[in-house]
Amino acid sequence: MSTLSRRYDLHCHSNQSDGILSPEDLVSRAKDQDVSVLALTDHDTIAGLERAKKQAEIVNIDIITGVEFSCKWAGRNIHVVALGFDETHPKLLAQIESQTKMRDIRASEIAARLEKIGFKDAMARAQAQSGGAVIGRPHFAKAMVAMGFCSSVDQAFKKYLGAGKPGDIKQIWPEFGDLLPDVVEAGGIPVLAHPLKYKLTRSKLSQLLEDFIEYGGRAMEVVSGQQRQQDTHDMARLVNRFDLLASCGSDFHAPSKPWSELGRYSEMPDTVKPVWQAWE
Ligand code: AMP
Ligand code: MN
Ligand code: MN
Ligand code: MN
Repeated sequence: MSTLSRRYDLHCHSNQSDGILSPEDLVSRAKDQDVSVLALTDHDTIAGLERAKKQAEIVNIDIITGVEFSCKWAGRNIHVVALGFDETHPKLLAQIESQTKMRDIRASEIAARLEKIGFKDAMARAQAQSGGAVIGRPHFAKAMVAMGFCSSVDQAFKKYLGAGKPGDIKQIWPEFGDLLPDVVEAGGIPVLAHPLKYKLTRSKLSQLLEDFIEYGGRAMEVVSGQQRQQDTHDMARLVNRFDLLASCGSDFHAPSKPWSELGRYSEMPDTVKPVWQAWE
């Protein structure tokens, strides 16, 4: 198949983090959606990688190694997707394992805070939602909805888990300057995920990109799911200004949300250099 006709989805989640589908079902669904190259980018874990690879062989699509790291920049919680790294690289493996553990520690802290404001058995309830996967805030949100403590996941984030709320604990994540060199050393490409989600002014985002590049950052998601054309053009200009590669992905978590289907996201303009140039 020619490179031009291939569909790349380089950001999605399985039930090994806060997604709904097993790695196998995720890969099969990607195939059904005409994805030819998929990166499974669970939050701070590669627990689903081997299973995704096996299924990819069965349905005949390509898998790029991936993970979505939680990290900090200037006191903010920033997400960096790492692509195409050697998943046996000891230093990067240790970093991923450490972040998986951080999620457990953070989950206990979140639970303690939610208990204080009246949400009983928070940890056990979040664990029941995660089914043994690394715990994230969405698991707490779902547990709160299941218990009638909140009317929706969105409301749980707005009131209890989102930025500045009791369940928002970000101090534990590494500074991205401490993380990016390990990704590079393992042969991976650090990609700044969903740059518009941080709600930064354009000058702050430029500062972030300057630091990102200084520590080895190579790419940015120009497209994250379905987005406004204006945003795509803005982000395309930005990657070109900083001479970064451009990535794209659905950030798919669950089949119930048609706006974030696997393989479905706004087109990348042909003015950018796609990130897959780095490995093809
Ligand atoms: P965590 O990874 O535990 O820090 O939680 C962040 C995750 O929560 C993101 O990756 C999203 O999947 C999800 N998320 C963030 N904000 C919201 C929201 N307002 N409603 C639903 N899910 C959200
Ligand atoms: Mn998520
Ligand atoms: Mn993210
Ligand atoms: Mn994501």
